[in-house]
Amino acid sequence: MSQITIQSSCSDDYDPAALQVSEALQRIDAVITPVTGYEQVPLRSGLGRTLAQTITSPINVPAHTNSAMDGYAVRAEDLSGKDLTPLRVIGTALAGGPFQGVVTPGAAVRIMTGAVLPAGSDCVVMQEQVERQEDTVVIGSGHKAGQNIRQAGEDLAKGEVVLSAGHRLLPADLGLLASLGVAEIQVRRRLRVAFFSTGDELRSIGETLDEGEIYDSNRYTLYGMLTRLGVDLIDMGVVRDRREDLEQAFREGAQQADALITSGGVSVGEADFVKDILKALGEVHFWKIAMKPGRPLAFGRVGKAVFFGLPGNPVSVMVTFYQFVQPALRRMMGQHEAPPLTVKAACANRLRKRPGRMEFQRGILEQQADGSLVVHSTGDQGSGILSTMSRANCFIVLPDACGNVEAGALVDVQPFAVLL
Ligand code: AMP
Ligand code: MG
Repeated sequence: MSQITIQSSCSDDYDPAALQVSEALQRIDAVITPVTGYEQVPLRSGLGRTLAQTITSPINVPAHTNSAMDGYAVRAEDLSGKDLTPLRVIGTALAGGPFQGVVTPGAAVRIMTGAVLPAGSDCVVMQEQVERQEDTVVIGSGHKAGQNIRQAGEDLAKGEVVLSAGHRLLPADLGLLASLGVAEIQVRRRLRVAFFSTGDELRSIGETLDEGEIYDSNRYTLYGMLTRLGVDLIDMGVVRDRREDLEQAFREGAQQADALITSGGVSVGEADFVKDILKALGEVHFWKIAMKPGRPLAFGRVGKAVFFGLPGNPVSVMVTFYQFVQPALRRMMGQHEAPPLTVKAACANRLRKRPGRMEFQRGILEQQADGSLVVHSTGDQGSGILSTMSRANCFIVLPDACGNVEAGALVDVQPFAVLL
């Protein structure tokens, strides 16, 4: 190996050995494949699951041409030319109670929103625009054929693709599928994800802390993030920094799960036996990523499970999870998702940043009275400070090359709402 001396500089965070975030994402993406295995579930149980079939509409939606307003169904040609036309009201069409006759010249039918458009009529005039006098309705000019009418199949035509395989089912989709009469759907099986924390200093809640010990919080943030993703969880607890314990935990996790996530113990030079174990059990790469927080990350395969070794610091765990693990797990779940939306916001504070690494700083995004977006820094950006993660509602994403950000400058913001 060639020995390179890197000139350290206080104005630059550039490390030639570090992978860029985009490159790490590509490398992960290149080796991840969706799990196979499908199940048929009732529509409601499909919420949050990945659709495994393409759904075409078995019917026209709406099934019938119907009224978009409460008013009168008429023949547009009856209203042409004159200022005021009296029409005879010959019946009523209700949603679910169609008018059985035909609208003949000179006639009108009282119609409610959603009612089937009666035969012979081609226009609905809003009730606010007419004058009703007993059996007669008087209507002015300026009405056109087709107005206030919803055409059969205008939402979805019979045979049209409604949802494609790979779609993550959200509330609108449940309603959409219900509107087609779809009672059951085929989804991909749930992903099984095992996780554990590593570290001799960690205690679980309920235990008392001795000097130098801390409570394990990473298993709780991971629990929350994984639960939101809709995977089956296997919480393996805290594992000591001991070779035998770790080896057994890695084996167990890899046997039971599609993906195994650990936190801690991936810092450079630390617990070298972790690397040895992982080498023996699978194929794992230790990456230094040009990002902050979250520089060290292990990625690969242990047994048949995809493996993510996240850093130990609580904020780094969350940042690396959202940036790398979540998109990878979504792909394993068979989902085709666009990258999370970012928006531009004016930064209320000056931000300290050295060029060389991509930073994910915690921010609080607010909308001003005039509709513009402003983001405030939560202050201390230390990777162990989970309270600021809790106060934040977005990441301020600063690209590698970016240096200090002056107050008022526009920055990219990733709202947490688009990550959850
Ligand atoms: P490590 O990468 O194992 O050196 O951990 C880096 C820092 O994160 C250390 O200060 C650890 O004490 C802390 N840490 C590691 N795991 C956890 C955890 N599960 N919960 C809270 N802090 C942790
Ligand atoms: Mg540790």
